[in-house]
Amino acid sequence: MLTRRFMKPHLLGLRNVLLRGQLLSAAPVRLQYDRSQQFKQSVLSVRPETSSAKTLMDIGTRRIFNEDYDLFRQNVRRFFQEEVVPHHKEWEKAGQVSREVWEKAGEQGLLGVMIPEEHGGVGGDLFSAAVVWEEQMYCNCSGPGFALHSDIVMPYIVNYGSKEQIERFIPKMTAGKCIGAIAMTEPGAGSDLQGVRTYAKRDGSDWILSGNKVFITNGWLSDLVVVVTVTNREAKTAAHGISLFLVEDGMKGFQKGRKLEKIGLKAQDTAELFFEDVRLPADALLGEVNKGFYYLMNELAQERLLIADMAIASCEFMFEETRNYVLQRKVFGKTVAHLQTVQHKLAELKTDICVGRAFLDNCLQVHAEKRLDHATASMAKFWATDLQNKVATQCLQLHGGWGYMWEYPIAKAFVDSRVQPIYGGTNEIMKELIARSIVGQK
Ligand SMILES: Cc1cc2nc3c(=O)[nH]c(=O)nc-3n(C[C@H](O)[C@H](O)[C@H](O)COP(=O)(O)OP(=O)(O)OC[C@H]3O[C@@H](n4cnc5c(N)ncnc54)[C@H](O)[C@@H]3O)c2cc1C
Repeated sequence: MLTRRFMKPHLLGLRNVLLRGQLLSAAPVRLQYDRSQQFKQSVLSVRPETSSAKTLMDIGTRRIFNEDYDLFRQNVRRFFQEEVVPHHKEWEKAGQVSREVWEKAGEQGLLGVMIPEEHGGVGGDLFSAAVVWEEQMYCNCSGPGFALHSDIVMPYIVNYGSKEQIERFIPKMTAGKCIGAIAMTEPGAGSDLQGVRTYAKRDGSDWILSGNKVFITNGWLSDLVVVVTVTNREAKTAAHGISLFLVEDGMKGFQKGRKLEKIGLKAQDTAELFFEDVRLPADALLGEVNKGFYYLMNELAQERLLIADMAIASCEFMFEETRNYVLQRKVFGKTVAHLQTVQHKLAELKTDICVGRAFLDNCLQVHAEKRLDHATASMAKFWATDLQNKVATQCLQLHGGWGYMWEYPIAKAFVDSRVQPIYGGTNEIMKELIARSIVGQK
């Protein structure tokens, strides 16, 4: 459901823009609609799927969307082009984005997009959130950790937090004035989350938290961190003794370490976090004590879906970059695109990407109906991120030496792709989860 917040007065004028060669009518914007109704209408109006569109990033395609989403997508595209692209190089040098871009994204209604309005979010749906994920990949700017903040961290607070926690944090997070992070990984515990050592012990009604975390997205800028913590060392399994805490920047004993130097995601402030006897009030506990592992398992499907959707969007971007490049680059008196081997390579890449897009759009639809299971989310994450790396390698190759130069967007897309099969659960772990659904729990 799209709501008034997407249709800010200065954006309404966009009703009159040229979209795929057609002037959209200037009819008043409908502020509320019944999605099932719209979905039927969009199928009837026969929107092209990406395989038949002029480019893989065209607005006005894919049956899971309709004209309202197209309009939103135009605005999001414009936001990334105007507010993110011009600053990204500078942010890559700084190893972080500006706070200002977070607040601007908040003002435009691009954070907490699918968090219900009554909780202080924008009140959009999964499809609107997907538009933001995809548009970020289409502008090839990996710095702002919007997706993690909006669609991984905020849902924990909304789904398991108290009324007070929701009221306290969600409106600020939607406004981009409170940046969220989630800290699961530790130097000695990544894939095996049950190996977490960060520990909180009770002290009266308070908790005392100690431990350290690593590789935390948005870590350096974070104002609020969901920290995965052991609270019962004697539990029958480690999973039964894990809780989640909300830890705020500035709390005594909470220190941010280095912004980690990575081979890609240069403008992303991935950081280490240290907790030394941090005193947490009882209301810093998120949900119930010792239920943290269960909450994590519940939320991981959405995390994997968003990584997968961003992976396919990145493939779409890289394909179009490469198509443009080979059409203008000359070799032996002709364009690179003139070579039949190159044409076949492009044909293979486009087919792979469109097959991936069809599966992802199906997963988005299924998740919107709250039916996406863990194995399917894992398939999407593993397959799409592996494809992203294959597409990155082959598109870079088609650029020749220029593809290896940082000034060419394909170089950045290539290094940014590399982490996708690693975080959000490695692709090896994804295969474990898929295998369990095939042969049962080992
Ligand atoms: C840029 C970046 C951002 C990140 N952001 C966050 C964040 O915001 N929050 C957060 O908590 N974490 C984050 N992470 C951490 C990420 O989720 C972990 O790196 C990932 O889960 C893998 O854990 P690990 O690095 O400890 O590797 P390990 O678990 O040590 O794995 C090493 C290798 O062993 C393989 N392996 C492990 N277990 C199995 C198994 N059972 N079967 C087969 N193979 C296996 C792995 O697939 C991998 O190839 C981020 C990481 C990076 C690089």
